Amino acid sequence: MRLVVAAVNERNITMPDLYPASRLADAAAAAGRAGLDALLLTPGPDLRYVVGYDAHALERLTCLAIPASGEPFLVVPRLEVPAAQASPAGQIGIDLIGWDETEDPYAIVAGRLGAPAAVGLADRMWALMVLRFQAALPGARQELASRALGPLRARKSPAEVEALAEAARAIDRVHAQVPGWLRPGRTERQLAADITDAILAEGHSRVDFAIVASGPNAASPHHTAADRVLRDGDTVVVDIGGTMPSGYCSDCTRTYAVGTPPAEFLAYYQVLKDAQEAACAAVRPGVRAESVDAAAREPITAAGFGAYFVHRTGHGIGLETHEDPYIVAGNAEPLMPGHAFSIEPGIYPGPHGARIEDIVVCTDSGAQRLNTATRELVSVPA
Ligand code: ZN
Ligand code: ZN
Ligand code: ZN
Repeated sequence: MRLVVAAVNERNITMPDLYPASRLADAAAAAGRAGLDALLLTPGPDLRYVVGYDAHALERLTCLAIPASGEPFLVVPRLEVPAAQASPAGQIGIDLIGWDETEDPYAIVAGRLGAPAAVGLADRMWALMVLRFQAALPGARQELASRALGPLRARKSPAEVEALAEAARAIDRVHAQVPGWLRPGRTERQLAADITDAILAEGHSRVDFAIVASGPNAASPHHTAADRVLRDGDTVVVDIGGTMPSGYCSDCTRTYAVGTPPAEFLAYYQVLKDAQEAACAAVRPGVRAESVDAAAREPITAAGFGAYFVHRTGHGIGLETHEDPYIVAGNAEPLMPGHAFSIEPGIYPGPHGARIEDIVVCTDSGAQRLNTATRELVSVPA
């Protein structure tokens, strides 16, 4: 078998580092611990995490079946066998079963699995496939694969941390260019188009989002860039991210100003910066995820802006932009080394708003920030 060591970035993280062959056994063991007889993983982040295969999501079934005990196998449409073989999945000796157009791939999976009592389905499996599996495996209780894979995916390996750091450096380079594109008279959409081009030019393989929210739109945390023209005195929330060739995602927010923003904005921007700093400082192993949310919320509430911080403090990030662990009240799970997540408090009183977001990794000695772009308010001349 040919061993392809594909360098995915300048620091030479290799695909085998990112997607080690041991993942299959780890996933099977996790399935057993979660009380599942098998995992059924269709194209998406769960499948990619386990064997590195970035498969096309199509109506034809591609499915990695991982019995808790027994041999895993990958069922793919005949025409996609070469693509599966060329992926990291092709390097680890997994049993690859191509199915022909007139065959029933669900029956192939069911026949090989026997009679499982419980199966874990990829969280992003299409309903089309969920129902076909229900019919093909009528005795199997269906659960989410994240019951088994969630804790594994949440704790990043050193190679995964480096892949996230590479993504963070790429998005930081985009933010460094934003002040040059920010001018009165331009529209949010024009700025978003410049950003979108730069996200790709700086090394991402896909743009996931480019939020440009100016003036009163800055008070809407998930505003879609539109035809509003930038004006003197605007604050502009720029929240951008993409997916790297490694599969790992970036996500970073900075708030900019055109000319001199209103005095009350400047007052709460400082509160926000302090809150973001306090939340980062609260990160260490054993601390509950909700304590990091509280650390961000307390100074904002104390300053009288608590009602305007309308979302959780953060979300895990990896092969998906939003994944475990969520940094939110009610999540008492303790942070562990390798957890990677955003810290992104916001204050949105209107007719302006602000958010500051970095990706951090929990290490033994606290939070390691992956984004390093300045958090001071960057103001461009009006
Ligand atoms: Zn968001
Ligand atoms: Zn985010
Ligand atoms: Zn974001």
